[in-house]
Amino acid sequence: MQVKILGSAAGGGFPQWNCACPNCSGVRNGHFEGKPRLQTQLAVSGDGATWFLLGASPDLRAQIESAPDLHPRNGFRHSPIAGAILASADLDHVLGLLLLRELQPLRVYATESVLHQLRDENRMFAMLNRIPEQVRWSVIRAEEQIALQTVEGTSLGIDCKSVALSSRLPAYATGSANSNDAVIGLILSNNSGRKLGFFPQLPCLTPELHALFASLDFLLMDGTFWSDDELIRLQGTGQRARDMGHIPVGGREGTLEQLKALAKPRKMYIHINNTNPMLNEAGPEYRQVRDAGWELAGDGCQLTL
Ligand SMILES: [Zn+2]
Repeated sequence: MQVKILGSAAGGGFPQWNCACPNCSGVRNGHFEGKPRLQTQLAVSGDGATWFLLGASPDLRAQIESAPDLHPRNGFRHSPIAGAILASADLDHVLGLLLLRELQPLRVYATESVLHQLRDENRMFAMLNRIPEQVRWSVIRAEEQIALQTVEGTSLGIDCKSVALSSRLPAYATGSANSNDAVIGLILSNNSGRKLGFFPQLPCLTPELHALFASLDFLLMDGTFWSDDELIRLQGTGQRARDMGHIPVGGREGTLEQLKALAKPRKMYIHINNTNPMLNEAGPEYRQVRDAGWELAGDGCQLTL
C-alpha cells in the first residue's frame, strides 16, 4: 500500500489567512523553523495506478497538481482518483468533494451520519449527482471491514475498517448524530497484513483504542492542539481542544504521554493547527515530540506499507 500525505494541517492550513499567531507570523516574515502546510489530505493506493483519497480537503486542487501520480493519464477526461473515504462531515474534510464535481465517476465511502449531513442536509452536494454515473455513495458501518472498490467494481486491494469515535457533528449542523459514527477513525490494510491507522480527530482514548494502535504499522494521529486551552490563551476567547473533539498532544492527559508505551507503529501527528507550538522546530514542544519517537506529518511525504 502506498500512502501520500498531501496535506497535514488542520482547518485553515498553515499559515491561516487571518491569523497572526507567533507561528503564522513567523512563517510570513521568514523567521520560523518549520514548514507551511496545506489542509489534511491523504491518498492511498494498492498498485500505484488507482488511488483513493482519505478526506477531501479544500486545498485538494493544488494537492492533486503537486502529485504527478494523481494526474490524468488516459484520454481527455480521466483521473487515477477512484474515490474518497470520509472520516467526518467537517468542512475542512469534505469541501474538496465539491471541487471533484466535474462529472467524474467516483465512489465515496462514509457513515450514515456523514452521508445524511452531506446528501440530505446540504443541497450543494447534489452537484455530485447531476448525471447517473457520477458519484456513488457507499455506507461504511463501524467495525465492518470492507474491500475498497472503484465505481466499476474493481478492487483496490485495500481493506478499510472504521472505528466509531463520536456523535459530534460539525458546527454547521444542528445537534448531534443518533449514533457515534459522526466521527470515525480509519484502519486500512493490504493483503500482506500491513495496517495504517488514520485518526485526524481523536475525542477519546480508550484501552481498546490503545490496543488497536499497538497493532498498527503506521499511525497518523490527531495533532490539532498542543494544549487544551491553546486558542483561549492566544485569542482570549474560543473553545477548548477537548470541547472541539480533540485530545491535545501535550500535558499529562495528552496523547504524547498517554501513548508513550506505543512501540510498534511508526507514529506521526497530522491535522496540526497553525497555533500548535510543536510546529516550531526550534522549540521545546517539537523536541519533546521527537524525543518521544513521534514525527510531524509533512506535506509531500510518501510511504510504502
Ligand atoms: Zn496562526
